[in-house]
Amino acid sequence: VSAEEVVKSSIERIKEVDGKIDAFLEVFEEDAIENAKSVDKKIANGEEVGALAGIPMAIKDNICLKNQKTTCASKILENFTSPYDATVVRKLKESDAIIIGRLNMDEFAMGSSTENSSIKKTKNPYDLERVPGGSSGGSAASVAAGEVYFSLGSDTGGSIRQPASLCGVVGFKPTYGRVSRYGLVAFASSLDQIGPFTRDVEDCALVLNTICGKDNLDSTSANVDVEDFTTYLNKDIKGIRVGLPKEYFGEGIDEGVKREVEKAVEALKLLGAEVKEISLPMSKYSLPVYYILSSSEASSNLARFDGIRYGYRADEFEDLVDLYVKSRSIGFGSEVKRRIMLGTYALSSGYYDAYYKKALKVKRLIIEEFKRAFEEVDLIVSPTSPSVAFKFGEKADDPLKMYLSDVCTVPVNIAGLPAVSMPVGLSEGLPVGLQIIGNYFQEGKILSLASSIE
Ligand code: GLN
Repeated sequence: VSAEEVVKSSIERIKEVDGKIDAFLEVFEEDAIENAKSVDKKIANGEEVGALAGIPMAIKDNICLKNQKTTCASKILENFTSPYDATVVRKLKESDAIIIGRLNMDEFAMGSSTENSSIKKTKNPYDLERVPGGSSGGSAASVAAGEVYFSLGSDTGGSIRQPASLCGVVGFKPTYGRVSRYGLVAFASSLDQIGPFTRDVEDCALVLNTICGKDNLDSTSANVDVEDFTTYLNKDIKGIRVGLPKEYFGEGIDEGVKREVEKAVEALKLLGAEVKEISLPMSKYSLPVYYILSSSEASSNLARFDGIRYGYRADEFEDLVDLYVKSRSIGFGSEVKRRIMLGTYALSSGYYDAYYKKALKVKRLIIEEFKRAFEEVDLIVSPTSPSVAFKFGEKADDPLKMYLSDVCTVPVNIAGLPAVSMPVGLSEGLPVGLQIIGNYFQEGKILSLASSIE
């Protein structure tokens, strides 16, 4: 088939189902077909094409695509047009992938259900009365609903893995620094990382091949060679040491989730993996550490949205301060405001030592604890999310309940480690995800284990 046909069928699918799913904020129908035609032309002329040639995909709306809107699903950026391409977008274009649209998300990637989007609610393709997870809910739902072959999202505390888990697709958060953040609208710069959503593990390896690598435009990008991740697929996993952290299987994890994850662990044992229980007691401090660090960084990163340099500006104002206050009061939604206030408080003089600095110290302890664990085991396995997809409104009015959705995923961001979520079964008809965590830059090992039980 031609790229044009594949892209057109993807657009047809979106027209057929997205009225119900609401994953897309915009579809670039004409551009996508034009780009597909040029890929077909290249092939017809015998020119070399990239590894993702002609494959329709879409991006979370916090990743910049030149001359298109990048709204972060926020009113404050509703009319913002990106003047440049994110590095991942440049790499996708170079690999001849076809970017066919922008995907819904929680405003500024803050949330776990995509209910914080200022634009619309994305539905879970498995059950339209349930959330797709978040914050990359559109990215997960678009792949789960068969609208695109893959998508990109961002993960600051679980925003790739948790929605992947709730929608039954593969979602990968690479090692911090593995993928350039240039052109990703910053939420918490020390935690943010871009990664793929795919239908299976092989596709995940292929997309990682394209998006990973050192980038001089991101000073935190790591100078580590990009391997061909597909060489890790379907390897013998005999003797590989897998740790089960007992803290991740305890209180608060649904029985059905535990059951499906334990079944996957049994499958690993049958394949010869050496499974043993480990302990990560510092994990219990991960949520408070995460909410202090991520909100502190967010309060600083979001200061640029002031009605002058970017985005929405209030129509009427008395002076400069009034302009800032009104633009931000109208432009930001309530969760974003909550984070800005939390972060400003944690960074303010008199509280900095008690909160921000303390959180940094505990972060160090969490990193050291993982380091010790990886002296004993090669990989760590746990549930991705404590529950399957929940109903709209179930946690929306209770931020603390919502924050608990990320209890198994945030420690990974705090330590900067790579991890995948892959579907391993159903509980009451809804997908359950298994999280596999690796040591720094061990994406390949994670993919080996994941492909062995797919
Ligand atoms: N749910 C978490 C939060 O609200 C994680 C978000 C993310 O990873 N972007 O902060």
